[in-house]
Amino acid sequence: MELLAGAALLQAWEEGAGLLDGPRTEVLLNAAYGPAKPPWCDQPLGWRDAALLRLYRAGRSGALETITDCPACGTVLEFAPNLTKMLAVYCGERPDLEWFTVNALGGAVEARNPNVTDLAAASAGRDLEEARAILIDRCVRPVPSSAAFGRSRFKSELSSEADEETILTVASALDDRDPLADVSVDIGCVECGHRWSTRLEVLPVVWAQVSARARELIRDIDVLARRYGWSQDQILALGSHRRQTFLELS
Ligand SMILES: [Zn+2]
Repeated sequence: MELLAGAALLQAWEEGAGLLDGPRTEVLLNAAYGPAKPPWCDQPLGWRDAALLRLYRAGRSGALETITDCPACGTVLEFAPNLTKMLAVYCGERPDLEWFTVNALGGAVEARNPNVTDLAAASAGRDLEEARAILIDRCVRPVPSSAAFGRSRFKSELSSEADEETILTVASALDDRDPLADVSVDIGCVECGHRWSTRLEVLPVVWAQVSARARELIRDIDVLARRYGWSQDQILALGSHRRQTFLELS
């Protein structure tokens, strides 16, 4: 069953074309699943990518086809992560949006899984360190009951190296709850043998598929309109199965 097809596919493609990644994702997911509560930009990063991947899987069976250049020799390589395995990590359930307690060696803290709004805020940091501090400030906080652990002291403690341990524990807990938030794929170059790990960027792959399917649909409309004199709406109303059958009748 396709999540996005026909007129809805064409409209989402047209609407998303001129947009940046965040709003484009919102357009695609709203078109495929209906308006979300809370909006997709406020849902955990990995869960949002999982929704994009389900849209991809519904549009074409088979593996996630992606390409990358070998950093050592420049060979263009195709790699295909296992989509079913990736999507199975959530068991169909969205990670909790609420704050939860993480028990670390340095004491308990509360954390929540970052969303795309948090990432956008962090990207305003002047360097990686500042971006990381913004993200920690937004997504990690002291346990409310620990009155002695004031917010200002908490922030200075967390930014010190002594509490790197806590941050690692928090990062691991966040990863357990939203495993697709940061997906790395191990790749080996068939030409030079170089091995490396690359971060999987989901939206470009899904957008390329949506664009290809939209162009294909427009070509089909063009053929049928010329042959039968039908309007675009009439052709789209046929549904993909009947449309394909008419296209084969030549
Ligand atoms: Zn290579």
